[in-house]
Amino acid sequence: MRENNSRFLKLECECGNNQIVFNRASTLVRCNECNKILAKPISGKAKVQARVIEVLK
Ligand SMILES: [Zn+2]
Repeated sequence: MRENNSRFLKLECECGNNQIVFNRASTLVRCNECNKILAKPISGKAKVQARVIEVLK
């Protein structure tokens, strides 16, 4: 089954900052604290590059 639900992910950056990211973000998402890339858009989905600590519905 194809998963195409839009949801929000709570990510934890290496610096310890937690940030909510939309899983279909169409722009690069950077950490608000250290500017590290947390997710980048690949074919309509955000490819997460940080640890997911919670999936919000
Ligand atoms: Zn950070």
